[in-house]
Amino acid sequence: MHHQNVTCTVCGCLCDDLKIQTANNQIVELENSCSLAEKWFDEQLQADPKPVEIEGKPAEYHEAISRAAELLTSSKAPLIYGLSRSSTPGQRAAIELADRLGAYVDTTASLCHAPSIMAIQQVGEQTCSLGEVKNRSDLVIFWGVDPLVTHPRHGERYSIDPIGEFLPNGRTDRTIIVIDEQPGETAAIADQFLQVNAEDNFRLIWALRQLVRNQPLDWNDEEAAPLKQLTNLAERMKSCQSGIIFFGLGVSQAKLGHLAVEALLDLVTDLNEFTRFYARRMRLPGDVTGADSVLCWQTGFPFAVDLTRGYPRYEPQEYSAQSLLENKEVDVCLLVGSESVARMSKKAQDYLIQIPTVVLDYPGQITQFVPSVRFTTGIYGVHYRGTAYRMDEIPLPLGCFLNTKDPADHDVLNDLLKALK
Ligand code: SF4
Repeated sequence: MHHQNVTCTVCGCLCDDLKIQTANNQIVELENSCSLAEKWFDEQLQADPKPVEIEGKPAEYHEAISRAAELLTSSKAPLIYGLSRSSTPGQRAAIELADRLGAYVDTTASLCHAPSIMAIQQVGEQTCSLGEVKNRSDLVIFWGVDPLVTHPRHGERYSIDPIGEFLPNGRTDRTIIVIDEQPGETAAIADQFLQVNAEDNFRLIWALRQLVRNQPLDWNDEEAAPLKQLTNLAERMKSCQSGIIFFGLGVSQAKLGHLAVEALLDLVTDLNEFTRFYARRMRLPGDVTGADSVLCWQTGFPFAVDLTRGYPRYEPQEYSAQSLLENKEVDVCLLVGSESVARMSKKAQDYLIQIPTVVLDYPGQITQFVPSVRFTTGIYGVHYRGTAYRMDEIPLPLGCFLNTKDPADHDVLNDLLKALK
């Protein structure tokens, strides 16, 4: 069977032009993918089957649902966490379950672009689609991100190489600038690389704001070289036809990341006095943007939401999964995807393995601890239809091209909801 226009959900690019050939319920050929996608498909689809487990031992599905429902019902402060590798149906079901339980609910955004989200809530953002970038942006700046490594086809599809409506010569019509602590793969093919210390991001962005507004800077003589570079950059930004800054965790997760992102968004506002300019986040997990969107439309807030009082409250410092676990404020945790647990602090991980856990993981995900109950779920976009949101908040439909006996996230979560009743 040939499958065209398959959407890859491995990173936030959500490339929707994959061509896949299948035979005997297996992928035999994969076209238009990248090394990240190939590795992921291999890991997921070659994994040993272990559908349902209780305390690490194989179990029947209905027994696991009863046990998980028992744990969640007896909990005084449950936490539902993850959601970024799921899809709209799974995310909706998880939030409905959180609402019914009166739980805390958080997504992996709290470990990645949370400071950016808080900055956007403070000062707003100028948004554009990746299609607009492809067709218009003659100045592309990557700040604190190395997309050739983290989002391998971003450049080919949207930002570096493609021929756009107003960029008929593709790469030669664009100026690519990379700003980061160390030169990476993208810096090697860029027109310019500016080496900066991430801790200086806020100061540099503020200096750029002043240069864009023609305000004097009182930098000392030793800083003449970086000042010259920044002055040239400010001029280039003002004189482009359409510019974009793609920023990554190198900005948002650095010291004072939320202030640096706020300054970056203000800089873009200033630049729009002169030309068309945008700043967009480079989102990592495939559907973290969908998790934000679904949580927002259900509760009004994008992550770190407390539903324990029967209505939503939002406090990133207090209700993020990592803070709740570090402060021992939850007594059961349901994880829809455990892949980001390794990025939590040791204190949070140490507490997580002490409390009962219910984990929904894809077949190839190795759960790093023995959960109380583990369900292996089928993959959205491979085994189940769904919707995922690209990093520019464009929702894309996910088709399916393989069969599985594993249930989908939303099947397990809806069965849990029924078992509570
Ligand atoms: S760039 Fe990302 S979405 Fe595109 S094929 Fe590679 S891993 Fe998949």
